Amino acid sequence: MPRRRFDLERSEARHLAPYAQNSSVTRGRAHPEDQHRFRLDFQRDRDRIVHSRSFRRLEYKTQVFLNGTGDHYRTRMTHTIEVSCIARTLARSLGLNEDLAEAIALAHDLGHPPFGHLGEDTLHKLMVDHGGFRHNAQSLRVVEELELKYPIFNGLNLTWEVLEGLHKPYIANKLVDGFIQPSLEAQAVDLSDQIAYICHDLDDGLESGLIDEQELSNLELWRTTREAALAPYPHLEAERGRYFVLRTLLGNLVEDVIDHASAVIKERNPQTSDDVRRQSAMITFSPDMARRAKELLTFLYSRFYHHPALTKVRRRSVDCLEQLFELLVGHPHLLTPQFFTRVKKDGVHRATCDYLACLTDRQVYIQHQKFIGGLPSIEATRLEQSALL
Ligand code: MG
Repeated sequence: MPRRRFDLERSEARHLAPYAQNSSVTRGRAHPEDQHRFRLDFQRDRDRIVHSRSFRRLEYKTQVFLNGTGDHYRTRMTHTIEVSCIARTLARSLGLNEDLAEAIALAHDLGHPPFGHLGEDTLHKLMVDHGGFRHNAQSLRVVEELELKYPIFNGLNLTWEVLEGLHKPYIANKLVDGFIQPSLEAQAVDLSDQIAYICHDLDDGLESGLIDEQELSNLELWRTTREAALAPYPHLEAERGRYFVLRTLLGNLVEDVIDHASAVIKERNPQTSDDVRRQSAMITFSPDMARRAKELLTFLYSRFYHHPALTKVRRRSVDCLEQLFELLVGHPHLLTPQFFTRVKKDGVHRATCDYLACLTDRQVYIQHQKFIGGLPSIEATRLEQSALL
């Protein structure tokens, strides 16, 4: 006998914690749909996300390095997968809805533009008089408007709970009785995002040689983790040792969040998922870990994300985006038909911004070469960047 949706809903009700978000009590979808025979609502959302075009594009978008600079560095896609693994661990340990946490994690960066945070800041600057640009608001826009999969509505028609997890102001705009936080599942994704990038940006930073272990030894979190991890293995070769410290760090961060969140949840004793939404965040690092993680992040910002070896290529990528934006705003007929038709509804600036935000790193360079030219190709730029690492 197959297990039907109804059986799965009963199993959720039996096994999840009372403060988890059960799929059977979802606030539903903007466009009502028949229930699936076998899949729960948040499972369907996860599948819609994975089958979307914007999800596939994550593979070709910058995490820190221009896409294609090196085959071992993270992309927005591998970052997303790592976030979803961590979020599922947090959700399962805390008795939360793993399907919901996974769906939010897989969608959380769908709105990220090409060139990572640099691309985000560039688009924000270009859009400053037209509503600005932020990647999490854009993630919501992608799944509500820009994905075209269904005959009678735009977007993926995801459940309210997944949308809530993508963009905090969504709660204020669309609901309701004093909600100030999203579900615990969404909070778990938020922490998972932070844990993932702390660990993998350290990994990529060390791998690239732009930061070295000597510098890291000034940071308390790295130093204490390293000492504890390598104490039983004093003679490990460098690469294996580095990896072992990084996986120990990841494990420690995850366990800190689980232990601290469990204590906070026990103390506050929320009885339902809406109780959670009326209180301040419950899934956070412990105060001590938060302090140590912040020190590490501050280091990454100053020494890695803004490393001089990345400056030239970053500048060129910004030029590509800015010049394309200017051209397309003046000549919107050059937009693809999907975005050209949006000019009437959203205005030429927003339609252009949506179009550019959807492009991958490579597509920006290709479009620039096609319409403007005069800058090195993406292949030349990748080689140039690799040579500096
Ligand atoms: Mg992220």
